[in-house]
Amino acid sequence: MTVLKGSLRNRFLLSLCAVLCLALLALVAIARFQIMPILLEDEEAFASAELDRIERALGAELNHMRRLVEDWAHWDDTYDFVQGLRPQYVDSNLYESTLETLDLELMVFLDASNEPYWVAGYDEHGEFVSCPGVMPPCDWANASIAFLSRHVAQGLEDATYTWLLAAPGLAMVGLSPIHQSHQETPAAGWLAMVRPLSEPWIEQLRDTTGIELELNPVPAQADLALVLERISPTYMTASRLVPALPSSHALRIDAALPRQRYQASLETFRFALYWTSGVLIATLLIVLWLLERMVLLPLRQLATFTQRLHREAVPPAMPEPLLARHDEIGTLSREFRNLLDHQRQQSDLLRELTLHDPLTGVANRRLFDQRLTELLHHSGTHQCHAAMMIDIDHFKLYNDHYGHQAGDACLITLAQHMEAQLKPLGFLVARTGGEEFSVLLPNTSEDEALRLARELLEAIEALGLDHATSPTSRNVTVSIGIATQQANTVEPGDIMRAADQALYQAKANGRNRAATYQAFDPTTVFDS
Ligand code: GH3
Ligand code: MG
Ligand code: MG
Repeated sequence: MTVLKGSLRNRFLLSLCAVLCLALLALVAIARFQIMPILLEDEEAFASAELDRIERALGAELNHMRRLVEDWAHWDDTYDFVQGLRPQYVDSNLYESTLETLDLELMVFLDASNEPYWVAGYDEHGEFVSCPGVMPPCDWANASIAFLSRHVAQGLEDATYTWLLAAPGLAMVGLSPIHQSHQETPAAGWLAMVRPLSEPWIEQLRDTTGIELELNPVPAQADLALVLERISPTYMTASRLVPALPSSHALRIDAALPRQRYQASLETFRFALYWTSGVLIATLLIVLWLLERMVLLPLRQLATFTQRLHREAVPPAMPEPLLARHDEIGTLSREFRNLLDHQRQQSDLLRELTLHDPLTGVANRRLFDQRLTELLHHSGTHQCHAAMMIDIDHFKLYNDHYGHQAGDACLITLAQHMEAQLKPLGFLVARTGGEEFSVLLPNTSEDEALRLARELLEAIEALGLDHATSPTSRNVTVSIGIATQQANTVEPGDIMRAADQALYQAKANGRNRAATYQAFDPTTVFDS
């Protein structure tokens, strides 16, 4: 996990993956809670429209029935017939092929007192019968006739009626008062026609509507709303109750409907979803690539550069491509380089300050010790090195007489003079105490050191710096202790202690002179 989090790229990758997942989740949620309900609603509207179409087809059939029954009921022959005036009516009109042509199951003529006057139809064995009233063999029609008589007896208005019949069998009923065709006379009775909703009839309805449908009688229910059942992704059933007689029953239209619209919409939506997801992923990948090229790569170069600064002894240069950029990373790189340069200058200055004496500007004890240690440890055994310890004579008296500031000025003059004389020869002059200086003389023999010390004593006295209160000379003088040592034979401190002892000897011998260190018998050399 830390590896994943370690780099900016991985963090971006993780973040972008999270964003991608969220976006995809949002898309799925939109699909689930926004699009799908709309599609299902649309499907429901489609089913409802299909059922409306079936209902309209049923309505058209009922209208057809209405016109048929009206035609017959308003026919003068029928008017005469129900009044017993035209007995030949039966033979000339009510035969089997009439019912067959009209696709009827039953024709009932009721007289003016609503009593069955003539019945013609197919009995339960499919035999055509035609008889006055409901005597055998027409008694099979009793149930239908009783139902019709009851309806008529309820006081129907003088108009044509059509109903769907759910019991005893599925049928369509047309009922019309029998009138004379051209005269306004009271109804002579009623003519009822019953058309069975047989399988061939339903098959024809299927052909007309183009819908796979069934009509089923069911017990009447208050709710006539649409019931939709999605059986499979490609097919569903839609049902709706339509009012029918008798009132204890209803007719249910069951339609098997294809779900093409839903499937097509779903397909379209999926297509859009896949493309959206694809475009989203492609966009994120491009963003990632651009980020890698424009930000992460240069940032890594900058990071590698900063790591190399710590690791490598020779600090590397800032990569040119970073400095040449004109964007924020370019600015950052340039500023960082400037900061590094500034920091290097500051460290150089600091190093200078820590290794040099602030008053006189010559090296301080730290630098002197450092060089001495390096010299003694890194040179061959045959090499001989020398060191001087120089102390100003009676400097306290000088300060007392001329003041501390003049004392400082004297220290500066002497230091610079000694450095001017010795530094060109490759020697290091350092201020190692208040009015004490040390000189490191690599590859210098004792004689050579002594010669140089003498020259130095002369030169300092020749400077002619007044020292009115000095018991030694009227000018400022110094005393010098000299020690030499083979490299690797002593510790750095030893040679300086030896030089210090030699200096002590020079002081003891009268000052303004140099003395070399002798292990058991330091010999002084007077040179003044
Ligand atoms: P000697 O000949 O024995 O060396 O006598 P001396 O007076 O030089 O030695 P002493 O150790 O008694 O005094 C050293 C003096 O150096 C005391 C102090 O005031 C002076 N001194 C040390 N450092 C500084 C400095 O930075 N500036 C000034 N003006 N005087 C300093
Ligand atoms: Mg001193
Ligand atoms: Mg002194």
